[in-house]
Amino acid sequence: MTFCLSGIGSFAKLWKSNPVLLGRGHSYLSLFLTDFCGIRNQQRWFSLKTMSPQNTKATDLLIAKARHLRKDEGSNKQVSSDSSHLFLAGAAKKRSQMNPQSKDHALPPVKNTIELPTKPLNSKEWDKLKEDFKGKVNFESWISSQMAQCRSSVDVAKSLLAWVAAKNNGIVGYDLLVKYLHLCVFHKQTSEVIDVYEIMRARYKSLEPEANTLLIRGLIHSDRWREALLLLEDIKKVMTPSRKNYSDCIQGALLHQDVNIAWNLYQELLAHDLIPMLETLKAFFDFGKDIEDDHYSKKLLDILLYLRNNHLYPGESFAHSIKTWFESIPGQQWKGQFTTIQNSGQCSGCGKTIESIHLSPEEYEFLKGKIMRDVIDGGDQYKKTTPWELKRFKNFVKSCPPFDIVIDGLNVAKMFPKARESQVLLELVSQLAKQNLRLLVLGRKHMLKKSPRWRKDEMEMVREQASCFFADNISEDDPFLLYATLHSGNHCKFVTKDLMRDHKACLSDSKTQHLFFKWQQGHQLAIRNKFPGSGITFQHILSHDTVVQTTGDSWHIPYDEDLVERYSYEVPTKWLCLHRKT
Ligand SMILES: [Zn+2]
Repeated sequence: MTFCLSGIGSFAKLWKSNPVLLGRGHSYLSLFLTDFCGIRNQQRWFSLKTMSPQNTKATDLLIAKARHLRKDEGSNKQVSSDSSHLFLAGAAKKRSQMNPQSKDHALPPVKNTIELPTKPLNSKEWDKLKEDFKGKVNFESWISSQMAQCRSSVDVAKSLLAWVAAKNNGIVGYDLLVKYLHLCVFHKQTSEVIDVYEIMRARYKSLEPEANTLLIRGLIHSDRWREALLLLEDIKKVMTPSRKNYSDCIQGALLHQDVNIAWNLYQELLAHDLIPMLETLKAFFDFGKDIEDDHYSKKLLDILLYLRNNHLYPGESFAHSIKTWFESIPGQQWKGQFTTIQNSGQCSGCGKTIESIHLSPEEYEFLKGKIMRDVIDGGDQYKKTTPWELKRFKNFVKSCPPFDIVIDGLNVAKMFPKARESQVLLELVSQLAKQNLRLLVLGRKHMLKKSPRWRKDEMEMVREQASCFFADNISEDDPFLLYATLHSGNHCKFVTKDLMRDHKACLSDSKTQHLFFKWQQGHQLAIRNKFPGSGITFQHILSHDTVVQTTGDSWHIPYDEDLVERYSYEVPTKWLCLHRKT
C-alpha cells in the first residue's frame, strides 16, 4: 500500500489523493496527508490524479439512494427526511436556520461538553478532543455537523478531514465531504469547491441533489461554471430543481456573458411553474444595462409584466436596478424617480393617475362567477364544509337583503388575545351598526354556548344589531364569507384578518387571481388596532391599485423598502415613477 503520512503534528497539511490498490484489487481513491514542504509548489490543498469510479460501500449507498429518489419521482419530489439524515449538509443548515434548539437524533444533548475548535488542530489534538467527547453518537459526524452549523472556518474543517483521512486509509466519508463543501461554499472558497468537486466526481457515480446544489452554487463563480449546468441536469433526473438552483445557474451564465443560456434557463424555470427569485430577475436588469439589444429589452419588459400579473413587488435594490436600466437605454430619455402616490390616486412625481382599485361591472361579474364556481361550488368545499350546510347558508343569504359588511366573527374576536372574545365582537358590531350599515356576522355554533370567553348577554346584543349565521364547528368560514360578500354586490366589504390564500390558489388563471387580489384590496377591511373604550380602527382602503403598471411611455412600479417590514395583507407605499422626456 502506498499510503503515506508524514508530519501530521504540524499545521498546513496538504491533501493529495491517489488511487491505491487494496487487497482484492479494488481501486480506491485515497486522500493523502503529506507535509507542506513535500509539495510546496502546489497551489491547491486538494489535488487529484485519477478519476476512476469507485465501488466503495458509500458509493453503493449513494447509487441506491439515487435509484430510490428516481422511483419516487412524480409522487414525491421532495427529498425525504430519511435521506437528509444520511446526507446532512443541507439538513444541518436548515436546522440551524429554522430551529437552533432542534432535538434531532443526530444532535444528542451533549452540545456543550466540548467546545468547537477555532483553529486547525493536529492529529493528537483531534484524538484528545474525541476522548473528551461523551456523546454516544459518532464523534466525526457530530463534530462536522456542529462545524457546518456554526460556519467554522475552512481551515479548521480541513484539519478534521485530514485527521479522519489519516485514520481511515485516506478515505473520508461522503457526509463529511458534503459538510466540508457546505463550509467552502459558505465562505466562497471557489478553488476548494473545485477540489471537493473533483474528489466527489472521481469517487461517486452520482450525487444526491443536496450536494449538487452546493456544487452548483460554488462552481458558478469559476471558469468551470458550465459544469454547474451538467449538475443541474443531474438534479433533473431525480427531481425538479429548486428556483435557487435555477437562480444560481442563471447568475453563473450572466456572470460569464452567456445571455442565451440565461434566458433558456429562465424559460425552463417558468415552465416548471416555479416563481423566480427576485434576485434572479434583478440579475437580468443589472446585466442589461451594459448591452444594447432590442430583443433583450423586450424580455426585460416581459419581466415587469410578470411582476404585474403575479402581484410581486421588487425590493429596494431591485427597484434601483430597474431605474438604472431604463435610464441607460440610449436615445429614449427615460427619467426615473422614487416617489409616493397621493390619496387622490395621483403620482406625486409626474401627476399621472394610478390605476383604480375598483373593478368595472364586467370585471366584478367575471370574478364573482369564477369564485362561485371554483371556490364555493368547486371540490374544495367538501373538505371544509358539508354541502348541506352550504345550502342552508345560501338559502339564508338569499332571504336577506344585501349586506354592507360581512364579518368573520371568530377571526375578529381572536385578534386581541387579552380581551374577551364576545366583547371584541360586540364592540366592532356596535361601532359599525351606529353608521347604519347592514351587517352579517359569521360565527360557529360554539360561540353560542356559555363560556368565560363568550358571554351570552354580549352575544345577544350582537344578534340584535346584526344578522348572524352560525356554522358547524368544523366548517371553514372563508367560503361563507366570500359567498355572502359577493352575493351582496360590489359595494359590500368584509372584515377578516385572513388572507384567503387557499382560495386564490383555487383560481385557475392569473387574470382571475389578479382580479381577486384587486377585489380583496378594495373590499377587505383590516383591523389596525383597538384601544379599550376608543373603538376599533381599520387600515385605510386605497383608491388606487398597488401593482406594476404602464401606459407605454410611463411605468409605475411599487417596491418594498429594505428597512420596512410589510405584513402580507399590506401593500408597499413607495413607488418608482418612470417616464420619457418628450
Ligand atoms: Zn409618476
